[in-house]
Amino acid sequence: MNAPIALVTGAARGLGREVARRLAEEGYTVLAGVRDPSKMKSLPGVEILPLDVTDETAILAAADAVKRRYGRLDVLVNNAGILLDEEMGLMDVPPDVLRRSLEANAIGPLRVAQAFAPLMPKGGRIVNVSSGGGQLSASSTWAPAYCISKTALNAVTVQLAAALKPRGIRVNAVCPGWVRTDMGGPSAPRSLQQGADSILWLVLKAAPDLTGGFWRDGARIPW
Ligand code: NDP
Repeated sequence: MNAPIALVTGAARGLGREVARRLAEEGYTVLAGVRDPSKMKSLPGVEILPLDVTDETAILAAADAVKRRYGRLDVLVNNAGILLDEEMGLMDVPPDVLRRSLEANAIGPLRVAQAFAPLMPKGGRIVNVSSGGGQLSASSTWAPAYCISKTALNAVTVQLAAALKPRGIRVNAVCPGWVRTDMGGPSAPRSLQQGADSILWLVLKAAPDLTGGFWRDGARIPW
């Protein structure tokens, strides 16, 4: 049987790189979506796919390249994300910061899903890497543009799950916890491995029909 094919966006560093590395170890053919391929150090079994998730032309070119080369995609991990307003309060967030956060963290994942879903077979999985910061049930005042963009990503997840259910494609959101990456910083309590485990559970271990939920460490969490 051919190896399943997985695309991980934002895979140049941090959680995306670790998820790509682990999926390759699991026997997947892994495509690492990166916006600047010159910055990505190679990983065994991982192919670099130029993909800026805010660039419409790049998204369409990437989907076309995957279609021509493999004819299908089994797993999409929408991992790419930005955090621009860690030091800002809601009353000071400039519209441009909110706009760029939404572009990268919510609209980008939706556009990537729209472009790649036609290549996904029944049983395909889309995993949206969200954040506890996007939970409406546990709102905080930290990084408001980031949190609003992750709430939007959660809404995208619910809508995508419903839209793709008839085709048997499963769509879920996941929080990796607070992880030691460039974004999470050195004081974060979780290792890269622990954060990647939370994401990979949805790809490797979750029941095949699980869809439309928000998860951390294999347990459902509130929106
Ligand atoms: P990092 O900042 O370490 O890495 C982010 C990655 O996303 C980089 O490779 C970056 O590319 C890429 N990226 C950013 N914008 C784009 C874009 N427009 N197109 C393609 N790639 C892009 O973050 P983490 O690894 O910590 O985070 C990964 C995901 O996990 C994010 O969605 C984040 O919100 C989420 N998350 C992280 C937490 C944490 O504690 N670390 C907690 C909760 C959620 P480049 O290298 O070119 O800059």
